[in-house]
Amino acid sequence: MKSVLVLGATGSIGTTFLNAAKNNHDIHICGLTAEKNPSLAVLGKEFKAPYIYLKGSDSSKLDEFITRVRPDIVLNAISGCDGLTASWTVLDKGIDLALANKESIVLGGELLLEKARNTGAEIIPVDSEHSAIWHLLKGRKAERLIITASGGPFRTRHDLSSVTIEEALRHPTWKMGRKITIDSATLANKGLEVMEAAILFSFPSERIDVSIHPESIVHSLIETEEGAYYALLSTPDMTLPIMTAILGEGNRLKNIVRPLPFSAGFSLHFESWDKERFPMLQLAYDALRKGRSYRIAYASSDEAAVDAFLDGRISFTDIPKVVSSVLSHDYDDADTIDEILSLREMTKKEAEDLC
Ligand code: NDP
Ligand code: MG
Repeated sequence: MKSVLVLGATGSIGTTFLNAAKNNHDIHICGLTAEKNPSLAVLGKEFKAPYIYLKGSDSSKLDEFITRVRPDIVLNAISGCDGLTASWTVLDKGIDLALANKESIVLGGELLLEKARNTGAEIIPVDSEHSAIWHLLKGRKAERLIITASGGPFRTRHDLSSVTIEEALRHPTWKMGRKITIDSATLANKGLEVMEAAILFSFPSERIDVSIHPESIVHSLIETEEGAYYALLSTPDMTLPIMTAILGEGNRLKNIVRPLPFSAGFSLHFESWDKERFPMLQLAYDALRKGRSYRIAYASSDEAAVDAFLDGRISFTDIPKVVSSVLSHDYDDADTIDEILSLREMTKKEAEDLC
């Protein structure tokens, strides 16, 4: 039996996990957190979680809360750059981390990996692409990683200048939180994922490709030296990567996602991405090459720009303009968690001033 603490329990990943864990006797939900959503108390009762923690109203620190809960593993499903501090705290205590919060890796992945090595904790990716690559790399050496992307709601739309908030929130294959849904529409999500893969798997950006795959069935591929490709396929459903990250090897999971209709037949498509219409992905490659400070600037300014778009303060096509402007400045290295957090605040503020 594994006791699991869920950070960000009221969100899309958090509730997907809780629903899957409901009838699983190998999982005990020992704690739940959220930022301010009062429905956390309802979830706490439903899942008989002995501890709950609402960031906005709890007087104790997350650090003290985790010490009290003493989980075997933590699912970090917090959205945005605030997830970094939580990841750091969990690993510092030597607790395994099932990591959905990709921003943690983008901002401070090297420090988190080093912390995990020092405390003996493990970081297990939950993001579907990285979960796939994680499994594919077991016992295999890859020359190239191919990260798939659905292409979002505007894959075939030519003019993006008049995109509305409602249109951008309508993702064709995945149902997710608002921030990641907008990031999927601009391809910033794929940009963050290229960075996440580069750090998690120690891969140079030149050997990480993105391929648009509208069906979201192939969750990513690795290319080997011989020119073979290994892929992980499943129905698009986050239950699979979340549950395999939580329960690990030797899990007793059965039919947790719908089987693919091989006997009925179905098609898979792969396309290149359009640099003109989706500048956020190219900006991510550029930031990755320039170093950690620029990754921090990218993620923080994107977060501010997405908030401004969702508030109706800027247009959809302003998002890459804001990020590009913040990335055009010079930034010193950020070497510690505190330096990363202050650079994050600074670059977020720079972006907010442009919105
Ligand atoms: P949601 O917006 O649906 O949920 C976010 C959760 O985090 C909520 O419980 C929210 O609490 C909590 N939260 C938000 N801000 C803070 C904060 N500052 N401190 C503490 N808790 C906070 O997000 P998703 O579930 O969609 O995404 C979570 C993470 O997983 C993101 O990093 C995303 O990129 C990643 N991910 C998501 C996927 C998906 O399918 N959704 C797929 C792959 C990765 P409250 O309800 O109180 O606001
Ligand atoms: Mg993903």
